[in-house]
Amino acid sequence: MKRPKILVLGAGYGGLSTVVNLQKNIGSDVADITLINQNDYHYESTWLHEASAGTLRPDQVRFDIADVIKADKVKFVKASVEGIDISGKQVTTDTGVFSYDYLVIGLGFEGETFGIPGLDKYALSIANVKAARQIREHIEYQFATWSLEEVKDDSRLTIVVGGAGFTGIEFLGELGNRVPELCKEFDVPQEKVRVLCVEAAPMVLPGFDPELVEYAVGHLQAKGIEFSIGTPVVEATPEGVKIKKGEDEFEFVKAGSVVWAAGIRGNRLIEQTGIENMRARVKVEKDMRAPGHNDVFIVGDCALLINEEINRPYPPTAQIAMQQGVTVAKNLLSLIKGEETETFIPDLKGSLCSLGEDDAIGVVFGKKVTGSRASFMKKMVDNRALYMLGGASLVVKKGKFNVL
Ligand code: FAD
Repeated sequence: MKRPKILVLGAGYGGLSTVVNLQKNIGSDVADITLINQNDYHYESTWLHEASAGTLRPDQVRFDIADVIKADKVKFVKASVEGIDISGKQVTTDTGVFSYDYLVIGLGFEGETFGIPGLDKYALSIANVKAARQIREHIEYQFATWSLEEVKDDSRLTIVVGGAGFTGIEFLGELGNRVPELCKEFDVPQEKVRVLCVEAAPMVLPGFDPELVEYAVGHLQAKGIEFSIGTPVVEATPEGVKIKKGEDEFEFVKAGSVVWAAGIRGNRLIEQTGIENMRARVKVEKDMRAPGHNDVFIVGDCALLINEEINRPYPPTAQIAMQQGVTVAKNLLSLIKGEETETFIPDLKGSLCSLGEDDAIGVVFGKKVTGSRASFMKKMVDNRALYMLGGASLVVKKGKFNVL
């Protein structure tokens, strides 16, 4: 019998977890497995705030895909996906066309700018490892230019961070540690630097326990970070951002760096597939298949999964993406064997938000944690994710061991 072709798009948490679990459980005589990713490495999206602030180098947040896949079971193709033809069952890339019997889409997230004018053009976004490098280098360039120029433009040293959700707060936590280093490196008096977080919603870290939010804001303010809450950004220009402060009241903040961290959507390629989606995220069936498409699975941030207890979507997280990969691998094997697929049930262990190198907040197994204990746990979670994808050798190579 002809071996079915399984095509996995994207080597992020969802796609790579699917492949790693497929190669564990499927013999090379059972299916042809191909993984397509635009880089020959995986990057840890959950560490991008560190790469963006410059507290980790870009090479520290990525590892070679070849290190975690078994070449005799999985064919890896470095290519950029350009189009997905669901009815023709083929995927077009910049290196050729690939047909499939089963498709897994795990192409991850993109920043959502909600149509705010200028943001696409003038704000930087913590979207992937290359964008993270750009943010780091942009901020360094502003500091270096300030220290060289004769007539000093202090607004170069203003960093506006749009969004006080998870990503924004984790990035601010890193900036809190990085700014003093930058000042030392580029001979900049620290009082000249301004880091301002602007958030449209009336609160910081929605969904987090208020006591933990208070801890986080206090910690960041102590590092000199300012907050402007309930004040949406209405426009970005080459000079900075315009903020709405009241009914008819606006303020323009001149800034050398604007980093937008206020929302995500799925990969735009989803929108061209004809599969029903909301902001490029597909409301998946219980077994992670796209509705009406029995041969297409969606994992990670391109999938929208409803938490029926509260009738709201689960937040897009690496934790869930990796668990989905396990279920999707099992379900692919079941389909090949002609068996029933199983329902994906997230097993949420908690949530930890870092506030820089040595501090964090979170809820783990229902218990609130803060400070160095929470930071230690966060690093262990990061190491566990590495372990799940590449075993102990990957943890030794890339793990976080500067725990105390
Ligand atoms: P990704 O991990 O983003 O991977 C997508 C892959 O697809 C990438 O390898 C990309 O290169 C590839 N790709 C994209 N387009 C193409 C194309 N056209 N062709 C070929 N390849 C392509 N979650 C947590 O659980 N805990 C956390 O602490 C946490 N912290 C976070 C901190 C930050 C700063 C950010 C940004 C996110 C954080 N998240 C966290 C969320 C988490 O990172 C995402 O939910 C997760 O990365 C989603 O996984 P994914 O597999 O869908 O996509």
